[in-house]
Amino acid sequence: MVDKAEYFQNMYDYISNLDETIKTNQPLYEKRLMICKNCDLLTDGMCKACGCFVEMRAAIRKNSCPYEKWVAATE
Ligand code: SF4
Repeated sequence: MVDKAEYFQNMYDYISNLDETIKTNQPLYEKRLMICKNCDLLTDGMCKACGCFVEMRAAIRKNSCPYEKWVAATE
């Protein structure tokens, strides 16, 4: 059984070790997360629309918001 803190640490480790070729650059990553932070569908770091932890979803460049709210976020 993995507790919440350990789960999040594993997720942050996973994100930091993502291959640079698929990873979102830091400025775009932060813009995506700011949009999520202001979204009504965000609950405890998870998107109610897709069921993902948004930090994980936002970290991969090709991913998108299911409601296309990230479209406004450009590099
Ligand atoms: S991925 Fe989109 S729908 Fe989900 S929390 Fe972020 S902005 Fe909202």
